[in-house]
Amino acid sequence: MTHIRNTPASAAPEPSPARESSATVSLAASTSSGESGGPGEPDDRSARAATEEMTIRPLRDRRYVVETDGGTYVVALDAGTCTCPDHAIRGSRCKHLRRVAMEVTAGAVPAPDERVGVCAVCGAETFVPFDAGGTHLCDRHALEPGAIVRDRETGKRLVVVAVTTERADAYRTDEGRSVADYPTNADYGAHEPVVEAVYAESVRPGRSVADCDRYGFPASRLTRPSD
Ligand SMILES: [Zn+2]
Ligand SMILES: [Zn+2]
Repeated sequence: MTHIRNTPASAAPEPSPARESSATVSLAASTSSGESGGPGEPDDRSARAATEEMTIRPLRDRRYVVETDGGTYVVALDAGTCTCPDHAIRGSRCKHLRRVAMEVTAGAVPAPDERVGVCAVCGAETFVPFDAGGTHLCDRHALEPGAIVRDRETGKRLVVVAVTTERADAYRTDEGRSVADYPTNADYGAHEPVVEAVYAESVRPGRSVADCDRYGFPASRLTRPSD
């Protein structure tokens, strides 16, 4: 029988030995001190880390606030520290540290080197590099270099060369105008990142993508052909 626990970190339904070890592995991988949390440690702390009610919020200094019924603590995943008594007295990896590591692995909160950003196309929250400025796209609207895309305005096929973090109203073309300034881009967000692409028809045998003329588009003007 499978019993699904209604907790954010419970990707696996039961605290089975396999799940315990994977949680321990991910924790060990994301912290530097490896003296505890080994295979011989009692399982109940891992089980509590996975199932107890906790609210985790990333702070601006790459640490995390963990709110529980028993108190509110601050976890530094990189340093492997927590402000709770369990960690302070025993120096052990407490359930808060474990839970934060699990949530990061599950993609529920940003990793210490990430922060929460907003997709310029749909407004969905997305994790971006901590120091990244500019404008960003979620996984659904991201385009990978090399991807074949279709221009919504002309129907033409293009090959993505680069996704910048520069806004369409800041990115200057060779003509000295911003991408947002072109009438054909009026229907797309001026705050969207500019995607650089070359026309597929200009890529011929013996001619690399780097040799083709490159054009900048607001991200949502280019769409995957299947969309
Ligand atoms: Zn703790
Ligand atoms: Zn999006």
